[in-house]
Amino acid sequence: MSNLELIPLGGVGEFGMNCMAVRYADDMIIIDAGMGFPEESVYGVDVCVPDFDFLEEYRDSITAIILTHGHEDHLGALPYILKKFNVPVYASHFTVGLAERKLEEHDLLDDVLIHRVEPRQVVELGPFKIEFIRASHSLVDCFSLAIRTPVGTIVHTGDYKVDETPVIGEPIDLRTLRSYGQEGVLALLSDSTNATVPGRTPSERAVIPAFEEIFTEATGRVVVAAFASSIHRLQIVLDIAQQFNRKVCVLGRSMQKNVEIADELGFLDIPEGLLVSVGESKSINDDELVYLVTGSQGEPRAALSQMATQAYKGLTIEEGDTVVLSARIIPGNERSISRLIGCIYKRGANIIEEKRRMVHVSGHASQEDIRIMTEAVRPKFVVPIHGEYRMLFRHKEFVKNHLGYAEENVIMIENGEVLELDGERATVTAKHDIGRTFIDDSGFEEIARETVRERRQLAYDGVVSLVVTLNAETGELEAPPEITARGLTGSDSSNGFIKNAQRVVTEALSKAPRAERDDISLLKERLRVELKRFIQKQTGAKPVILPVVLEV
Ligand SMILES: [Zn+2]
Repeated sequence: MSNLELIPLGGVGEFGMNCMAVRYADDMIIIDAGMGFPEESVYGVDVCVPDFDFLEEYRDSITAIILTHGHEDHLGALPYILKKFNVPVYASHFTVGLAERKLEEHDLLDDVLIHRVEPRQVVELGPFKIEFIRASHSLVDCFSLAIRTPVGTIVHTGDYKVDETPVIGEPIDLRTLRSYGQEGVLALLSDSTNATVPGRTPSERAVIPAFEEIFTEATGRVVVAAFASSIHRLQIVLDIAQQFNRKVCVLGRSMQKNVEIADELGFLDIPEGLLVSVGESKSINDDELVYLVTGSQGEPRAALSQMATQAYKGLTIEEGDTVVLSARIIPGNERSISRLIGCIYKRGANIIEEKRRMVHVSGHASQEDIRIMTEAVRPKFVVPIHGEYRMLFRHKEFVKNHLGYAEENVIMIENGEVLELDGERATVTAKHDIGRTFIDDSGFEEIARETVRERRQLAYDGVVSLVVTLNAETGELEAPPEITARGLTGSDSSNGFIKNAQRVVTEALSKAPRAERDDISLLKERLRVELKRFIQKQTGAKPVILPVVLEV
């Protein structure tokens, strides 16, 4: 009998890019295809996706992509994996709604087979029998998965928290999870994002009192910035606006898009006449208006930043406005959010963030939620997933110290590792070097690793161009080499840098064997290498060097 293999392509030991391959014999399914957000030092790159080329050797085995929910870090890479492996996709109605918009942007919608699944539905794919189980999270229509395999049942939590009173839809389906627990579960792959936080994660409803207070106190306009995907939160803002006789104007592309999808699919309950356009909003009294906007992370191009710094569709933040940042700070965005808050204060508005009032709750399981999940599923092995290493580690510590799991039953894995399960043991048997692919935000194109490397080099060490003009007949220099440096420190003319560089190039030319002189590409490479060596010795820098050889 074969073993079951779990191979994370992303999302384990990092924030974002969640993607897990599950393989048994000749069948493989992929759970989630998420985007990641590279650190600021990756020049001009906004997003990245797992390196799906790794899956090439399993091309004939991949039978489906299963999406647990519609967050970008679980769904954002869908177009990129489908371009390489066009297999059917299984997801909830709302997740499909988001996925379809994305595929449309990539002009893929007509080429992809998408199955909408309901909670409690079971889909059979080769040796896998997958049940979709309702999970609660910060957006709607989310799933955990129970996957029966020939070696045992695997439960993948997706992202979750134990919310017994969500604003929209039914609570998390612990009863079904428990029934799998009673039957016996081999491994639980479990969300670790909030594993460092003690206690329970509050229900989505927990922000209502703070919002009621804010609306009671506000005398001018209220501007609420939230994640466009936080559908429960959007419903709360709509409800409270209605309650306080305020109209709502939705601003920002992703916010408008998500409100539209959620409304179409019946997830949002929007009273007739509540929503107004930007134009209409301008003629409504300040104390009868709410703007629901994008830009809670201080993104410079989003609605809120634009309103705070210049104008967005003719709207600016003004004295008397109350701005609510109803979102958490995604790691890495601290500076831009801090700058945004400064701009809003400068304009004389009041700002309320998570630290001042309870205007945000997490969508992820805290430690006591993890306890509830683990005790429901009662797995033989716990495998922490979804989170940075410290979160996975704390998840492991919690399960060991508070739920009585032995060290060998909590398995820490890394991206690219192959975790083999035979029903008795769980062993990491291989490690693949799976990288990430950078994506150009504007054109949806993959950016070559080399390009990113060059951009970094340009930013740190600048560029040096070299033009050498040779006599076509004699192969001798027609004029001194032309060398221009930009962004390279220690390259000004005063210290003789250019003169010395010219000398190095001239010498390199004279030493070049005849065969190299006849082949311009070889000659260019020789000059590049010699010049690089010289510059590195002189300045310590490694600029991009662009050699050109002309024959006249
Ligand atoms: Zn999520």
